[in-house]
Amino acid sequence: MDSKVLSHLQDNNTQPQTLDFLSQPLQMYVDGQWINAHSNERITAYDPCFNAEITTFPSASSIDLDKAICAARRTFDSKEWRDMLPLQRETLMHKLAGLVEQHADTLAQIEALDAGKAIAGCRDVDIAGSVDVLRYFAGWPSKIEGAVRPVSIPGEHVAMTVKEPVGVVGAIVPWNWPFNMMIWKFAAAIAAGCTLVLKPAQQTSLSAIYFAKLVEQAGFPAGAFNLITGKGSVIGNEMVSHPLISKVSFTGSTEIGKQVGAMASQNLAHVTLELGGKSPMVVFEDADIERVVAATQQSVFFNSGQVCSAGSRMYVQRKIYEEVIEAISSKTQAMKIGLSLDDSTDMGPVISTSQYANIIDYISIGQREGARLVSGGQTVGDDGFFIQPTVFADCNNTMRIVREEIFGPVLAIQPFDTEEEAIQLANDNEYGLAASVFSSDTSRAWRCVKQIKAGTVWINTHDMVDPCLPFGGFKNSGLGKDLGPEQLEQFLQTKTVWLEV
Ligand code: NAD
Repeated sequence: MDSKVLSHLQDNNTQPQTLDFLSQPLQMYVDGQWINAHSNERITAYDPCFNAEITTFPSASSIDLDKAICAARRTFDSKEWRDMLPLQRETLMHKLAGLVEQHADTLAQIEALDAGKAIAGCRDVDIAGSVDVLRYFAGWPSKIEGAVRPVSIPGEHVAMTVKEPVGVVGAIVPWNWPFNMMIWKFAAAIAAGCTLVLKPAQQTSLSAIYFAKLVEQAGFPAGAFNLITGKGSVIGNEMVSHPLISKVSFTGSTEIGKQVGAMASQNLAHVTLELGGKSPMVVFEDADIERVVAATQQSVFFNSGQVCSAGSRMYVQRKIYEEVIEAISSKTQAMKIGLSLDDSTDMGPVISTSQYANIIDYISIGQREGARLVSGGQTVGDDGFFIQPTVFADCNNTMRIVREEIFGPVLAIQPFDTEEEAIQLANDNEYGLAASVFSSDTSRAWRCVKQIKAGTVWINTHDMVDPCLPFGGFKNSGLGKDLGPEQLEQFLQTKTVWLEV
């Protein structure tokens, strides 16, 4: 561990368990065993606050992946897993949720260090939100139902449907919500009765390794959950085309998601794709400006803007245009940019050298395109990947900073005059993950909801998520849903049963 990372931990009341975990040689969890990569290759985990080494973990090869997928299939086919009663699966999931809750501080510290996310958000949103998701899905196994149908064939028949788990799930998650996205996949898959192999992003694998220890401690059968760490271009690619994978659940970029979908379809595997976004916020002149400002804090500046549903393009009705710009930029100027483990930090660094370079590039593109830089726009400090929250005004929909997903703390604002124009501007984008409308006129807000093409539309807020509500995009933002009964359904298949009496 680099000395700067050690000081980062020690100066911020880090728990002994966190230091203990980070000083162990980290391994993958396959078939109930802790293993190194067959090749013995390892990947380095970096603290984005200093671009300095935290630790290393295994870089799996296809041999390791195949072992994990075969283990998951054996467990799926085993009598122990098949005969586990719904309430027993619920009990196991609740036990795991309790363990995650018990280890919440350690998990939040690991996540904050590894992903550069501000610790307060990690604790309150990433980890606490994951416990909620586990508990929500823990309630499902005993409520998965088929239906008895009234067939019209003469004679005595009982005809029904039963729901069965699809098989082994290959789950791939990104680096911006490492723990949270892993739990979204894990909880629904296990509740449905599937087994899974999960691959975290190579930038952020540490909280997944800690989680696997909790899965083991909770007493899940060997092979029910397998954790493979490594490079997406190698094992991610192989995972989605493996013949024993029955369902691919992927969250990541649209570019990779399209490749993943194409490969999985070769085996007719079920696929869910949760992809990129460029979500509009539409602000009418009768909006509550304080709510608009609060919403930008929880969407485009939370996690340094590395949020798929970030409201990163904003349309404001002309009468309140300058007032909204002023309110947002003065709030962003008061934000504390700092070390991820410091409790008073509002915004930590972005994840990596390439992401840092990409965002800086987009800020200069915005200036070259003629947008007005209202606040931010600079990097912060010499170490790590810190960028100021940045607000551009006077943008238009032809600009790249408005059209493309920047995945950084950059907000692009432009004015509009009429409701019709606002809807047209909001829909004028390849993505359709989410959107928000701010107005005190509920009839107008409802008219907008019906016309905006996005998987989620919030009114007078942005980026609210709950385990009972499906989350997923339209257009180039994806296919299928995570969360809610809709997600559970995607891990099930329907069998028709016909009995002649
Ligand atoms: P990414 O597509 O580069 O990587 C995502 C995952 O795919 C990683 O685990 C990566 O290792 C793996 N991967 C890379 N190449 C692969 C391949 N050829 N085959 C299989 N797997 C491969 O995305 P990222 O940069 O990690 O994450 C950011 C993106 O994720 C953004 O576009 C963001 O909008 C999106 N995202 C979407 C949601 C949602 O719910 N819609 C949530 C979070 C993030």
